[in-house]
Amino acid sequence: MEKFAEAAEQRIPIARTSLTEEEIQSVLGPLRSGWLVQGPHVHEFEEKWSQFTGAKHSVAVTSCTSALHLSLLALGIGPGDEVIVPAFTWVSTANVVERVGAKVVFVDIDLLTFNIDVSQLEGKVTPRTRAILPVHLFGLAADMKPLMAIAEKYQLSVIEDAACGFGSTYFDQHVGTFGTAGSFSFHPRKAITTGEGGMVTTDDEDFAVKLRQLRDHGAEATDLQRHLSAKPFLLPDFPEAGLNQRMTDIQAALGSTQMNRAKEIVAERRTLAKRYDEEFDDLQWLQTPARLDGLGHGYQSYACLFKPAEAISAAESRDTQKIAALNQERNAWMERLHRAGISTRPATHAVHMLSYYGNHYGLAAEDFPSAFVANDCSISLPLFHGMEEGEQDRVIGEVQKGYF
Ligand SMILES: *Cc1c(COP(=O)(O)O)cnc(C)c1O
Repeated sequence: MEKFAEAAEQRIPIARTSLTEEEIQSVLGPLRSGWLVQGPHVHEFEEKWSQFTGAKHSVAVTSCTSALHLSLLALGIGPGDEVIVPAFTWVSTANVVERVGAKVVFVDIDLLTFNIDVSQLEGKVTPRTRAILPVHLFGLAADMKPLMAIAEKYQLSVIEDAACGFGSTYFDQHVGTFGTAGSFSFHPRKAITTGEGGMVTTDDEDFAVKLRQLRDHGAEATDLQRHLSAKPFLLPDFPEAGLNQRMTDIQAALGSTQMNRAKEIVAERRTLAKRYDEEFDDLQWLQTPARLDGLGHGYQSYACLFKPAEAISAAESRDTQKIAALNQERNAWMERLHRAGISTRPATHAVHMLSYYGNHYGLAAEDFPSAFVANDCSISLPLFHGMEEGEQDRVIGEVQKGYF
């Protein structure tokens, strides 16, 4: 018991927020100025985001979920439409499609990358398909070249879920800049954080204008524009029926200040991942994140596959008993790591296995066998900027002891 308490005290978390004193102090600016809502700091954060990603426009919102939701609304996607979504992702990728009244069409993933299996994509396109929503999961870019070719062939919009995609590149192009829109998250589990927060990137000016209106009740002018105008005492018109999905200036100050060390944050995550890669490369029972030519991994998390040879073969044969047995073994390993003071998590969940989607779409786990296996056999290890060498030593030592 004592030993457990001791280990828990020095527990290595799956992620830890690491802010500099300057970043912490930055939130005092808007608090002291009295301008708390979307204003000059939001504008500054958006400008830095565009510069870093290479997008023409960036629009800050309350979360990545809001970013995805607004993008679907701005495209006019709704009842009668279908949107293609990978089966293994955070639930919000699918929930936003449900919330605009469209139908989610799942596609299975590739177990090497955990991303959408583009070879299965074209078979899911129907006359009702309006958009593809690829996810750059854990910071590894989805295979955008063939995906964009399919989108072009069928005239589909592409909205990239780049929640984990900070610093992720696909042949030197930042993710979130391939489709009509990219959506980023500033949840504390992500590389840049504003507590809650999100960003939409787009090269389409009309689309950006529409997003800015939709995030702000549908108003044609922002509060800041109104205050700076000749007649700040008059209210604007509302050409859209929007909600309030604006980021505060307090959050934006925090995000904008972190952007000053954006490159350093990405580089540090890559250095940590490289060390894990080197230490774990000879473990046959653990598949480390894919290293692919031309893809710059952002390592939002270090997602591995437990017993990959057995797991992949179980997915191919849809052997649910084998998958259940592997799942028990993985869970026992996670428990051992937990006891040793090391936090781990399943990399994310298979959305079609969550009860809402199972019930509403009548889906079984084995309908998307690779997502099923990823759900049951993946494991993320601690990786975050500010992780100390001694902390990483401990994780490496415990993993190298083996899983039994
Ligand atoms: C974190 C995450 C989201 C949700 O981001 P929020 O900012 O919390 O709304 C969506 N999709 C993926 C793939 C994520 O990892």
